[in-house]
Amino acid sequence: MSGNNALLAGVMGWPVGHSLSPLLHGHWIAGHGLNAHYVPLPVSPENLGRALQALPDLGFRGVNLTIPHKEAALKWVNDIDGAAQLIGAVNTIVVDGRRLTGRNTDAEGYAQSLAEAGVGKIAGHAIILGAGGAARAIVYALHQMGVREIVLANRTQERAEVLARDAAKLGGLNIVVSDWAKVLQHGRGAGLLVNTTALGMTGQDALDIELAGLDPGAVVSDIVYRPLRTPLLAAAAARGHPVVEGLGMLLHQAVPAFEAWFGARPRVTPELWQKLKSALGER
Ligand code: NAP
Repeated sequence: MSGNNALLAGVMGWPVGHSLSPLLHGHWIAGHGLNAHYVPLPVSPENLGRALQALPDLGFRGVNLTIPHKEAALKWVNDIDGAAQLIGAVNTIVVDGRRLTGRNTDAEGYAQSLAEAGVGKIAGHAIILGAGGAARAIVYALHQMGVREIVLANRTQERAEVLARDAAKLGGLNIVVSDWAKVLQHGRGAGLLVNTTALGMTGQDALDIELAGLDPGAVVSDIVYRPLRTPLLAAAAARGHPVVEGLGMLLHQAVPAFEAWFGARPRVTPELWQKLKSALGER
């Protein structure tokens, strides 16, 4: 369906051609029979402010933001919700009249992806590799899930220390910053190890980490989803760890965004999983 009064949303990134979001939201738009379009919007960093400010006049309900705009967008929105504030990044903008609200649905997406994989509660502490925007969302998600101790390691240790300081605002959370090379010395008693770095992604360097220090029941999760079964997850599965793939986070972060723009809560179905896997060249 189309027409003059079609509802509009999209994803701003630079580049944005790789994004699966148009496929994902397009699936739900068709399924809900909406007169709506979700479009990729290639916006360079220097044009971000003007592009965001034009959304109300262009009739957009909102947009998603992807690399490199998630942090820069904070200064262009009128309101910032609690999660985005604490995470320090915006992945969803909702337009209401002339006001732009910045939200962060990555935390909710990550928590849902764990729940969908049958991980309701993390026993013990969590180990997070990486300290970028996604790591911030995951710290927030784990805190919401009741995790009270996190070991954080990042190539640039200073960035992990800044994240640990910012996360003190959450209250009741102890973050231990570890040397990257020694992080698995904290493996005993960990209930979760999650990779939030770009390592292991197709075209990037491998994530070189020795899982031997990890308790057998620890869940291993990777938010990289190209490939779906990253070398980290393959190694973890071979050792018998429960594993959680990154595609679930992508699917579930989109649910609250779609609902905010279009007023209907979409479902993450096996058919949608399959559609995205096929788009990634996976079976
Ligand atoms: P970001 O803010 O740019 O952070 C990148 C992180 O990766 C930093 O911790 C960085 O360490 C680390 N890193 C990059 N290259 C590295 C290398 N060669 N060696 C060691 N560490 C390296 O990006 P982000 O938004 O957090 O995203 C991180 C990853 O998560 C990306 O692969 C992204 O596609 C994925 N992601 C997935 C989802 C999902 O829905 N599944 C959602 C968001 C992001 P330094 O600080 O030392 O540079």
